[in-house]
Amino acid sequence: MMAKPKPPVQKNQTIHLTFEDLTHEGNGVGKVDGYPLFVPYGLPGEEAEVKVVKVKKNFGFGKLVKVKEESEDRVEPPCDVYYQCGGCQLQHMSYSMQLEMKHNQVKNAMKKIGHLEHVPVHETIGMADPWRYRNKIQIPVGQKEDGKLKTGFYQKRSHNIIDMDTCIIQDELNDRMVETVRRIATELGISAYDEDTHRGTLRHIMVRTGQTTKDIMIVLVMKTKNLPEKDKLIDEIRDAFPSVKSIVHNVNNQKTNVILGKETKVIWGDEYIYDMIGDIKFMISPKSFYQVNPTQTKNLYDKALEYADLRGGETVIDAYCGIGTISLFLAQKAKKVYGVEVVPEAVTDAKKNARLNKMDNAEFYVGQAEELMPWWRNQGLRPDVIVVDPPRKGCDEELLKAMLDMEPERIVYVSCNPSTLARDLRVLEDGGYATQEVQPVDMFPQTSHVECVTYLTPKV
Ligand code: SAH
Repeated sequence: MMAKPKPPVQKNQTIHLTFEDLTHEGNGVGKVDGYPLFVPYGLPGEEAEVKVVKVKKNFGFGKLVKVKEESEDRVEPPCDVYYQCGGCQLQHMSYSMQLEMKHNQVKNAMKKIGHLEHVPVHETIGMADPWRYRNKIQIPVGQKEDGKLKTGFYQKRSHNIIDMDTCIIQDELNDRMVETVRRIATELGISAYDEDTHRGTLRHIMVRTGQTTKDIMIVLVMKTKNLPEKDKLIDEIRDAFPSVKSIVHNVNNQKTNVILGKETKVIWGDEYIYDMIGDIKFMISPKSFYQVNPTQTKNLYDKALEYADLRGGETVIDAYCGIGTISLFLAQKAKKVYGVEVVPEAVTDAKKNARLNKMDNAEFYVGQAEELMPWWRNQGLRPDVIVVDPPRKGCDEELLKAMLDMEPERIVYVSCNPSTLARDLRVLEDGGYATQEVQPVDMFPQTSHVECVTYLTPKV
């Protein structure tokens, strides 16, 4: 057997590289004699000096030392800590290039994984202003040398907190709330939790805002059940921000990376805050899953609704329904919607949301979609439309099979992972359905994530 050729580069070597492409994480790809090197922050078309940092058999990693020929799409990242923080990956790239990169990523997955190169993939729907879109922040708290509290995300691949004043993909209100709580907690002498020693009190500050209502919920995640200076803390927060609707104390005394602990207590105000997507109102509690970019969620759901093509008489199943967001959107136009979701609390919220909107044509069930769907089928339920919105790992095979068995007129698939989407579409295609078109939506500008919506109809 012939020995595999040795990689043409060595660790710590500095080389001249031209970037040809981008990975789906947004790293630049350049080749040395056909051997690919992945380099964070490199952009296609650029020539650069690169230091080789890792050499594997079939590919390696490099570090950008100096860009010699800059791409027209290179922009100055507006965030001061962009290169230290792990939160965003694409701030060095023009927004138009980000959208194009996501479009290409979806096209590639459709072609390589789904063998669906003939299916049209539309241009990514972007945001007019791709900043300050997030409605939820969960930020770790640390202590500075002078004793003052600091808040910031972890440095890449570490648990060091970067001291930061602002996160420019967050709603401005979230930023200001974090700053206020940090200042007040410092003044009241509340200590930061220290992961290494498992001592101290305040672990995370979480803020959720309703984009349309401007409702604010603050969650103080603490190691202790005892909340030091509770009344003063509440008074001062309310004085600083009268629009705060809810202040919550969450207790997490475990040595864990999971942010929220089991115990949650409203210490002031309401149990829920509210937000609207289109004409539908939703209740949000500290733990409920709610899309983080409401502007783009509306665009995504509008597309899903368009693809469902409802005329008023249809029965619809929304598998993976969460707190019923898509279900209620569909229920505006359908005769009946059945939602299924595995997290019981989410189903409770979904039912409350239906009541809140006075919608009595949506029913919600706790269970695994792949188990409930075959049961429904055996009960004689024949949906006209099935909508799925699974987590990153995609749909369970049993569920895909159950969907095919139900023979709906349409399947609408919402996905946060183009690879598993393409894999599942292949199964549905082989089962007799044809993918019509795919619409990528930029739900998470400045990051490498992309969301898609697509629909299938029976092959004729
Ligand atoms: N459609 C909702 C939620 C999508 S997130 C929205 O847009 O807000 C995916 C949801 O699927 C999560 O709420 C998760 O709890 C749920 N889920 C995961 N596995 C499941 C399964 N096997 N059966 C039903 N629901 C599941």
